[in-house]
Amino acid sequence: VTQALSSLVMVSGLLMSLSQAKVSSNRINEVLTTEPKMIMKELDSIPSFSAAHIRFEEVSFAYNNVTKKEDMTLKDINFEAFHGETIAIIGATGAGKSTFVQLIPRLYDVSSGAILIDGKNIKDLPLLQLRQNIGIVLQDAFLFSGTIRDNISFGKAGSDQEEIETAAKIAQAHDFIMKLPNGYDTKVGQKGINLSGGQKQRISIARTLLMRPPVLILDDSTSALDLGTEKLLREALQDIMQECITFIIAQRISSVKTADKILVIEEGTIVGAGTHQDLLKSNEVYHSIYASQYGNEEAAYVQH
Ligand code: ADP
Repeated sequence: VTQALSSLVMVSGLLMSLSQAKVSSNRINEVLTTEPKMIMKELDSIPSFSAAHIRFEEVSFAYNNVTKKEDMTLKDINFEAFHGETIAIIGATGAGKSTFVQLIPRLYDVSSGAILIDGKNIKDLPLLQLRQNIGIVLQDAFLFSGTIRDNISFGKAGSDQEEIETAAKIAQAHDFIMKLPNGYDTKVGQKGINLSGGQKQRISIARTLLMRPPVLILDDSTSALDLGTEKLLREALQDIMQECITFIIAQRISSVKTADKILVIEEGTIVGAGTHQDLLKSNEVYHSIYASQYGNEEAAYVQH
């Protein structure tokens, strides 16, 4: 029974990441009908990997059958990240940022090129193993009907209250949860209380942190937080980020400033890569994003 139960949880875990990613219902059906068998078999023996290194080699991707490179969503992406690094991705809406990170857990497969984790093409890793090692939090936080505890503990079957609270504290969720009528036992979703967008985002971050994934992806997942809370979250995440490879997609310069490497994406191409200081001095696109958020005067000042 336990095994059946956890396999159910895992199937829903996969489903959740798929539905968060707005993957078509065909794909969800495919997962439902083909993957449970695999899950039952592999459940007890899913090795985690260290993810010391991720590399994109000439990765191009199109959602449709586009053949011309210039019409593709991502074009010739080359890039690598090492254990302990935080990689931020910034760029206009529609530039390809979400698509970029969704290729890592294979929510979509590259059209050409390859993504390697620790030197292995991700297409050669068992899908479940790959996904179990990648924690992805998307902008539209997904909560299901149940208690807050259920929603967080979903990240790791059999987790205890202490682990759940630790994850919630890092995600800056613990304090507001404790103020709810029934704390961690408060029901959310249908027939439950309504949480704000920012509260949902923090619960979904806590759920992912509980997985302790070697690859952590935060796709615009702090957009609904005020600047102060986001800063606290960033500080609380420091220790965890030392232990994994983190990708952060964000709109605000303040959210990406401290990243080890910032990738500036425009129309599916990396048009700049470097630290905040490097890019401010040398990258026009980054500089204009900065100017739009901090004002032209401040931007002119930092460039000189
Ligand atoms: P960003 O995260 O930078 O806003 P996205 O990666 O979401 O950009 O989108 C890049 C491009 O791909 C956009 O033109 C978008 O409309 C298109 N796109 C995104 N998701 C899909 C999809 N599921 N099917 C077809 N096109 C998509």
